[in-house]
Amino acid sequence: MFAKRFSELNPYVPGEQPRDRVYIKLNANENPYPPSPEVNKVLKEFDPALLRLYPDPDSNELRSAIARMLGSGITPEMIFAGNGSDEVLSFVFFTFFDDDAPLYFPEHTYSFYPVYADYYGIPFRKIPLEKDFSIDTETLLEGKSSGIIFANPNAPTGIYLPLPDIRIILDNYPPDRVVVVDEAYIDFGGESAISLLGEYKNLVIIRTFSKSFCFAGARLGFMVANPELIDAVFTTKNSFNHFPVDALTQKIGIASCNDWMYYKSINDRIRKTREEFSKGLRDSGWNVLPSLTNFVFVRKEGLDGKKIYNTLKSYGILVRFFNHPGITDFVRISIGTEEDMLKLLGIMKGADFN
Ligand code: PMP
Repeated sequence: MFAKRFSELNPYVPGEQPRDRVYIKLNANENPYPPSPEVNKVLKEFDPALLRLYPDPDSNELRSAIARMLGSGITPEMIFAGNGSDEVLSFVFFTFFDDDAPLYFPEHTYSFYPVYADYYGIPFRKIPLEKDFSIDTETLLEGKSSGIIFANPNAPTGIYLPLPDIRIILDNYPPDRVVVVDEAYIDFGGESAISLLGEYKNLVIIRTFSKSFCFAGARLGFMVANPELIDAVFTTKNSFNHFPVDALTQKIGIASCNDWMYYKSINDRIRKTREEFSKGLRDSGWNVLPSLTNFVFVRKEGLDGKKIYNTLKSYGILVRFFNHPGITDFVRISIGTEEDMLKLLGIMKGADFN
């Protein structure tokens, strides 16, 4: 019954969603705070009769709202919106990465990249991180690649690659190959590479509403790039799913963009919680990688990541463990409310993890 290609699939495994008890859920980098009151208003006032109709296939009003929010010369023609940034990434992989040379990405980065590469038959090379877990930009530029992709700040490390380093990559990379910077976590402290788009026509930026805009449950992500690249991704989209963003999500996306100050304030709060939590952990002997995201990647000498994960789960707290060689002593912890993080800090100070 099954096609040959099906047997070769190797799907992505997201953070678990167990239902056996109530957990403090810090395993999927979701935002602990609700979306803007403007989103509530849209949901309350939405006329269900509108659901009879197909949505705008190109999300034009939403693209205008995103462009307005981003400012700095970004126009709606430079935006593509999709059903979560995972879908946008999938279209980007299909459109830009060929099989004539390997796609390069860091060894530890968003683990969906190798899944999409396999899905589309794109060869890839994983570039080991530096000793301090930062991205090795020099090796990313070695040899011939069909493109480069990395998350910035990176996941699951949380480490931010400063713009001058991104500029070095772009200055030394063939202008007819695309460099994709996945900025899923940029609103938690880093500086966006959007300001480089005017200079580099081969730069693609990916963003999501799932983290800093508090709605992972309604699926919305977008790409920012020069119009020629956006047009190409539209061609891919129209060959696969003509209407990727539903009518309601387009509306709450617009309401969110128009109230970006709300998100700035809650994300500032998350940054503050992250710093307090990180300090508390460091003071009690944990090693916390420097994070500019809404999560921290932590370990403690002598402890195994799986054990830390299991112990915290027994206390009703879900974090993420990656069974990937080189990072099996770490767990990734999303930043929740101040209250959640104080509770977790108490447990991490006192629990027996052995
Ligand atoms: N990029 C990175 C780096 C991520 O961590 C995630 C979330 N798992 C995504 C993209 C996808 O996010 P979404 O599909 O919810 O927009």
